[in-house]
Amino acid sequence: MLFPAFRPVRLGVLAALCVCLAASARAQTAASALEAEEAPARFDRPTSDTRFARPLGEVLDEIERRFDVRLQRPKDLDQTQLLDYAEYRFRPWSVEETLKNVLAPIDYKLVFKGRNIYEIRKFEYTRRLAPDGQQFIDYLNTLYDDRESFEARRALLRREMRHAAGLDSLPARPDSKPYLTPKRTYDGYYVQNIGLEILPGVYCTGSIYHPLKYRKASCPVILNPNGHFGDGRYRRDEQLRCAMQARMGCIAVSYDLFAWDEQLLQFEPTSHRTAMAHTIQNLNGLRLLDYLLSLKEADPTRVGITGGSGGGSSTMFLTAIDERITLSMPVVMTTSYFIGGCPCESGNPIHLAGGGTMNAEVAALCAPRPLLVVSDGKDWTRDVPQISYPYLQRVYGFYNAQDKVENAHFPTEGHDYGWSKREATYRFLEKHWHLDTSKVKNAEGRFDESGCTVEDYSLLKVWGPQGENLPANALHGIDELYKLFKAFGQ
Ligand SMILES: [Zn+2]
Repeated sequence: MLFPAFRPVRLGVLAALCVCLAASARAQTAASALEAEEAPARFDRPTSDTRFARPLGEVLDEIERRFDVRLQRPKDLDQTQLLDYAEYRFRPWSVEETLKNVLAPIDYKLVFKGRNIYEIRKFEYTRRLAPDGQQFIDYLNTLYDDRESFEARRALLRREMRHAAGLDSLPARPDSKPYLTPKRTYDGYYVQNIGLEILPGVYCTGSIYHPLKYRKASCPVILNPNGHFGDGRYRRDEQLRCAMQARMGCIAVSYDLFAWDEQLLQFEPTSHRTAMAHTIQNLNGLRLLDYLLSLKEADPTRVGITGGSGGGSSTMFLTAIDERITLSMPVVMTTSYFIGGCPCESGNPIHLAGGGTMNAEVAALCAPRPLLVVSDGKDWTRDVPQISYPYLQRVYGFYNAQDKVENAHFPTEGHDYGWSKREATYRFLEKHWHLDTSKVKNAEGRFDESGCTVEDYSLLKVWGPQGENLPANALHGIDELYKLFKAFGQ
């Protein structure tokens, strides 16, 4: 593909030459017209002379025919472009291998859409196919086969991931006091919004859900990083989850994505689509943990994290790099063949650490701490029971701790952090932290969220309805953030 502009001309000349030769050949044999018509069309079919080239559109049509599949083709795909050695790319036993061979040279790929449908897409660095995920795991299984070799790999990944995330050389948190709004008291817990200065002029915004009754070092702490579900941390299911955690005796915190919700007071929404989103979001989690663990009622031996989708990416990453976290529950994001499509999940090259890693291995770095992987049947976690979970069990086996890793799989459900998934996390917390769940269960002994209050979104704002309480030293715009990081030597 070095001379794309030249190729049609080259092929055009060859085609003309073929026609001339064909005419000449017919003349020289002096055969009858009938004979000429019946003779094999020697020069009408592709040969090595023409590099067996065929237009891409024709090749894709033939793949549909031969494999009985349907290919969704993007509008901007040039189907007239010629594909060299087209049919030699076919693998009669595998439509996926055939399509890979056809699409890779032109920087396109395929995405399985279900039944016999494939979508053709521009290459994405974040997404592969399930068989690739299995191959990745087969490869990882050659890298370690006991606790010692696994821990060597983990140390390497931790070091390189922290560095890749830009978290290596950051200064300590400014010593400004967290901005806390008045408490709003409900049945067994209160909610308070927090604005925490994580770097000079950079504020993390969130809400803390806190049990009403507590003693010194009695409360587990749980980070709830956000995903990209609509309404962010204000959404009903996230409020219910945090309130339930608090009603079980935990201090729970949910916090905004970078350049979403109240962080829009500081940064343009487009800033979320930068690698800086990955750095700041994860720093938000680390600095909130610093703060929460400084509370006298916090129990540093019981520190958890859970989030869905993009929040699941952050859950796995923070668990991997921070030993303070003792229990992890990534939801609908643990897989061996997708690393998250947003820069806040994969914008920094954390998955290039250790010569290449992926989210099932990032999750495995939790071992032997309790790990609950929640998956469903309609997204990239559909294969967790077959692909990622056996691998996780193998790693936990290095510690004789297979009972610490679980997979809650919901084959008929989709990509969300809905009721059944929340219930699975409540059970896991109860089991490992021996929480008092009497206030959050109904007469049948089932978890029951009806005692939780879903607040009006306006109550969850840290800086007031119009952002009027945003501190005067707040940075504005991502360029100021880049300048700040430059000053840190990054
Ligand atoms: Zn994002």
